[in-house]
Amino acid sequence: MEINNFKSYCDQFDRASQELKLDENLASLLKYPDRELAVELPLIRDDGSLKVLRGYRIQHNDARGPFKGGLRFHPQVDVDEVRALSALMTFKTALVDIPFGGAKGGIQVDPATLSQRELEQLTRTFVRAISPVIGVQTDIPAPDVNTNAQIMAWIMDEYSQTNGYSPGIVTGKPISLGGSQGRESATGVGVSITLRETAKHRNMPLEGATVAIQGFGNVGSWAARTLHEYGCKIIAVSDARGAIYNKEGLDIPALLEHQEAHGSIHLSSLAEPIEQDELLCLECDFLIPAALGGVIHKMNAECLRCKVVIEGANGPTTPTADEVLWKKNIPVIPDILANAGGVIVSYYEWVQNLQRHYWEDGEVTRKLERKLVDSFYETAALAHSRKELSYRTAAFMLSIKRVAEAIEMRGRIT
Ligand code: NAD
Repeated sequence: MEINNFKSYCDQFDRASQELKLDENLASLLKYPDRELAVELPLIRDDGSLKVLRGYRIQHNDARGPFKGGLRFHPQVDVDEVRALSALMTFKTALVDIPFGGAKGGIQVDPATLSQRELEQLTRTFVRAISPVIGVQTDIPAPDVNTNAQIMAWIMDEYSQTNGYSPGIVTGKPISLGGSQGRESATGVGVSITLRETAKHRNMPLEGATVAIQGFGNVGSWAARTLHEYGCKIIAVSDARGAIYNKEGLDIPALLEHQEAHGSIHLSSLAEPIEQDELLCLECDFLIPAALGGVIHKMNAECLRCKVVIEGANGPTTPTADEVLWKKNIPVIPDILANAGGVIVSYYEWVQNLQRHYWEDGEVTRKLERKLVDSFYETAALAHSRKELSYRTAAFMLSIKRVAEAIEMRGRIT
């Protein structure tokens, strides 16, 4: 089913800006990206043939600080998806109150079809192509779907070759190159902290709570690991190759070992295989979509049987599905809150790079906890202050207000 991510985001934005009674022109300025760059990327394949790929860097808003957001390497990357993701970054950084704006980038490619040399060359070509618009104080990329610490290291190296040693140009780097303690796990840990606070807030026991997780990459696997440590029962997980289910709860450390050895959770003997779509409809306390956008939509929202959705992925629930879930009394903890742990620790990484002074793991975790817990209760308080206000609309209202205020204070509307 065709899902337009940008349209979904626009619906969410409109709903919140109407609640805020935001001036129409200011709303329009805030809704659309400030700048969009599309680049053509030539790549000489290992067999000597030429392939030209398309990449994007879209800068949504920098009123509160430098543009900030991840890079996605995926065949479905398109301008509308990157636009939507760039806007979500602006409102995510504003919601958790860190001094960044929002951006996103990506290349329309399946990295699994590239050799390591091709992947490195493509990444370096992309950095040169977007170098006029990125910078340590202007726009700082990070990892997202199918990109990782190694790719961030190449970005840092390529940029530093022309600009001098610049670890602050990108976050999510390996620790040995100026990465932060706790960055790799930050988004999944943040999802888990949000789930924990949701449980507390809604009087749901955490110990033994049943959880289904779609996606077992960076976000999904770290969420599984952390929630397992909290005593939750992870009853199902999936990745691009398949899904597995065990109603007694999966042995997560053993599953991680299986994934390490086979590159997938698929065919693990620890559980029975199920259809990927079935996972979304399992009866459980918490459902965590942690793969791609638009996976909960009007065709399947009715089948959900979880008590709460915690959005690990960006944009996993379409506005139509949101309405169905609202009627079914299934609250959705929105992406801009639930998965903000990654950008929070990215901010800490950037601060450490600027200071050339590095913090211990415990310090990062403590600061992450505090930021997320505060943001959760601020959002929950607004959501519960009025009837008919979802957590998503409340989160957007808080963040839109902050960005609008920065635009006005800076005198950007003249
Ligand atoms: P990743 O590439 O590490 O993992 C993605 C996972 O999703 C993989 O396990 C992949 O196999 C799985 N997947 C792909 N298609 C699937 C399908 N049809 N069904 C089930 N699983 C499928 O990516 P990630 O960094 O974990 O990002 C996941 C989501 O979280 C994305 O929406 C991303 O934008 C969002 N996010 C990531 C971060 C971060 O720090 N990495 C931060 C905030 C939000």
